[in-house]
Amino acid sequence: MKEKASELLDVLRGIRQRLGKVPQELIPQVARQLGIPEAQVHSSATFYPELSDKGPSRDAFERGLEQRFRVLSPADPVVWNGAPDFPGQTRRVLARCGVLDPMDFNAFRAAGAYEGLRIARKKKPEEVIAQLEASGLRGRGGAGFSTARKWQTARTTPADQRFVICNAAEGDLGAWMDRALLEGDPHLVFEGLAIAAYAIGSSKAFLYLRSEYSHLIPRLETVLKLVHGSGVLGGLRIEIFLAAGAYVCGEETALLNSMEGSAGHPRMRPPFPAQAGLWGMPTVVNNVKTLAHVPLVLRNGSEWFSSIGTRSSKGTAILCLGGDVVQPGVIEVPMGTPLIDVITNFGKGVRGGKGIKAVQTGGPLGALIPGDRLDVPVSFEGFATAGSPLGSGGLIVISEERCMVAVAREFGSFAREESCGNCAPCRLGTARVEEVLWAISRGKAVSEDLEILDSLGEMLKSASFCAFGQSAPSVALAALRYFRAEFESHIHAKTCASGVCSFEGEEK
Ligand code: SF4
Repeated sequence: MKEKASELLDVLRGIRQRLGKVPQELIPQVARQLGIPEAQVHSSATFYPELSDKGPSRDAFERGLEQRFRVLSPADPVVWNGAPDFPGQTRRVLARCGVLDPMDFNAFRAAGAYEGLRIARKKKPEEVIAQLEASGLRGRGGAGFSTARKWQTARTTPADQRFVICNAAEGDLGAWMDRALLEGDPHLVFEGLAIAAYAIGSSKAFLYLRSEYSHLIPRLETVLKLVHGSGVLGGLRIEIFLAAGAYVCGEETALLNSMEGSAGHPRMRPPFPAQAGLWGMPTVVNNVKTLAHVPLVLRNGSEWFSSIGTRSSKGTAILCLGGDVVQPGVIEVPMGTPLIDVITNFGKGVRGGKGIKAVQTGGPLGALIPGDRLDVPVSFEGFATAGSPLGSGGLIVISEERCMVAVAREFGSFAREESCGNCAPCRLGTARVEEVLWAISRGKAVSEDLEILDSLGEMLKSASFCAFGQSAPSVALAALRYFRAEFESHIHAKTCASGVCSFEGEEK
């Protein structure tokens, strides 16, 4: 009966689509139908933006952010149709994207699709994991954890059942490379899922899809039908689970809660999902890009995979270049490529020939690399040394014309908007950070507010329950560290050198 709870989001989505809301009086009926407590139904119906009344305002907020930062919106057209070609890339994972039609199963087979799975099945599962370990593949979703070690934990944890989940809850502002892969080469992702399932001993896999990507479902379902029908996956079934609009569900334990029909609050760790994940069973949750690398390792070998990259970051990085560049897009380059080369060679520099003030990396909870440090290599360790994570590969280039107080405020608003609200330090701390940033941007702050920002950052880092809250003020704090003079001129001189901030207007 507990698996029935997985249907909760779909049931509530259906009600909302029919009635425009989820009426309170239907909650007992839904609870009975799924055999779960009414409180659980109520909690989910009010938690997820797509199911609750806050959906429209949250959507408007996010679309506004996307426009102001000049990044693609999920509603924008199919990526590979008319996407700019970037000569000089090292397209390994993206090799077939935009070249073959995913509906043409035979063409993909002829181009090597599912060959990695065939090779994997000739090996023992532990040999597959050993090959991944030798390749040095690290997760591409943000944490950069060893893929092989995650699989090994799931494989060796005693259980009757195991699960594999592809995390496509891609919610970072300006990051749409997972969507690009799912549109351009879903076969590579499904093949990676199948190899993971074989390696850990699972017969059930899921694609956890961001709700804003629901328009991909008809195509993905058609591809899955082709793949299942071909028998290439053996007994493995892959299902699509559509999320319901909460950014925090990109965090793997929040994702698991949402799949179990609960509000998407992160869980305490340990146990880690590879030990006790979906329904308490060992579960591998891997990002889209991570899984897409796996068949290439099996097909071409560990040495081939690690023949490019750096000592700690092997292979290629798939990046989503956006913001104030002339030519935004998804590109694939060897790990270790200088960031400035990515911006100038592929992005063609900044619009209007302007200079670069900073690059925002690692998603909305990431940080900033200032314009005088752009020689940093694109790698996990390179970005970490520069004080800003690589994350899932989103890069928002910020031109010299932008106001960094306004940039910090936008990211502060995002953190407040997307906090799941489950713990007080994050719920209250993100709201207070946003409030201070608004005050600074309107010339209503005092010097002490900068100290307050710093101490709020420390409090969030040390007292928040999960990585979201711990990282929530990172962009604002990085802006303050690198561009303090701008903050001070807003406070003391009531001026914004970029002419972006207005010092009049209503209180927020
Ligand atoms: S830190 Fe934020 S996102 Fe994480 S549990 Fe607390 S309120 Fe939720």
